[in-house]
Amino acid sequence: MQVTRELFDDVMVPNYAPSAIIPVRGKGSRVWDQNDKEFIDFAGGIAVNCLGHCHPALVQALTEQGQKLWHLSNVMTNEPALRLAQKLTQLTFAEKVYFANSGAEANEAALKLARRWALDVYGAQKSQIISFNKSFHGRTFFTVTVGGQAAYSDGFGPKPGDIAHADYNDLAGLEALMSDKTCAVMLEPLQGEGGIISPSADFIKGVRALCDKHNALMIFDEVQTGVGRTGAMYAYQNLGVTPDILTTAKALGGGFPIGAMLTTTEIAKHLKIGTHGSTYGGNPLACAVAEAVLDVVSNDDVLRGVVKREAFFREGLQRINDKYHAFAEIRGKGLLLGAALNEKYKGQAKAFLVAAAEHGLMCLIAGADVVRFTPSLVIPEQDIELGLQRFEMAVAQVVKG
Ligand SMILES: *Cc1c(COP(=O)(O)O)cnc(C)c1O
Repeated sequence: MQVTRELFDDVMVPNYAPSAIIPVRGKGSRVWDQNDKEFIDFAGGIAVNCLGHCHPALVQALTEQGQKLWHLSNVMTNEPALRLAQKLTQLTFAEKVYFANSGAEANEAALKLARRWALDVYGAQKSQIISFNKSFHGRTFFTVTVGGQAAYSDGFGPKPGDIAHADYNDLAGLEALMSDKTCAVMLEPLQGEGGIISPSADFIKGVRALCDKHNALMIFDEVQTGVGRTGAMYAYQNLGVTPDILTTAKALGGGFPIGAMLTTTEIAKHLKIGTHGSTYGGNPLACAVAEAVLDVVSNDDVLRGVVKREAFFREGLQRINDKYHAFAEIRGKGLLLGAALNEKYKGQAKAFLVAAAEHGLMCLIAGADVVRFTPSLVIPEQDIELGLQRFEMAVAQVVKG
């Protein structure tokens, strides 16, 4: 059966507005559509395909495990899950791991754990959760309400309660909201969906200090920043603070759905038997792939390569801007980069994305004012160069109207 983009409107719930392009295969940082048109991939499936498309180590892990055992449920544990959990504890501050299937689910687990911890240790009055305006934590009702865009949580009836929002990088604003009734502060160590906003060093250290002062848990949502994206295995490792709970997903599976919540033994013990769970969470197939992802990404060469590629991207984007004057700044860290449009092009990020696709380049936006790049962490330099050439043509097209 021949399928086309039109079929989407016939058979899919209309909550997405996908592009007219239907990709059918990918290899490394290149993707081909139904008409065999080639694209350079600077989007990486929204910071997911950290090793590009069909990386041999991931294909091998998937096919090997696919011949052995796919799913058991948590009535039994399995070898890939145990090995993956051990690796995650070796690579981070964490001592305990809970597996889920997505970022939202990992965050849902983190928030439920924080509430249960506070209830057990301090009592029912300690239930306030604070997060930040423009933050994104997923689309379950709890996580979307904690997220900093009311538009995403409005219109679904009564919301989970006792959730407050401060401005990111505004320590005084956070301090004003906090008290001993604060149960947890959840934040991204670099806001992704919100527009590629880095935290100041003072802010991050200040959040940690306020959490310590009020016995509140610091939850880092590293769903987008984790697994090498910013040049460290996890972004917190370059920020000089350690969270109490960390969530990871997106790149963890390199394109296979998996999420995880990491924490200490002391906090983890409050998710007692039966308090939370997932049918698919920690299934052997997902865990085998994630294990292969960690084995490749945790290599120093790969992490150093991210820093090298960041410089390459920044120079290239700067060169384009010197010619066309469309960006106010290039920001972000590692391979989570944003070209923030200047006054003249404000609100037009989508136009750049559409023009880029016409010229054979996949990129993303982060809000209406920022063009976002989250390519594979191992994208070859010649693909960066070719992709930037295509992006330059797109910028030229938009600038010339
Ligand atoms: C993408 C994202 C999520 C949600 O992940 P899903 O897998 O879509 O549920 C949560 N937090 C952050 C920071 C993200 O970027």
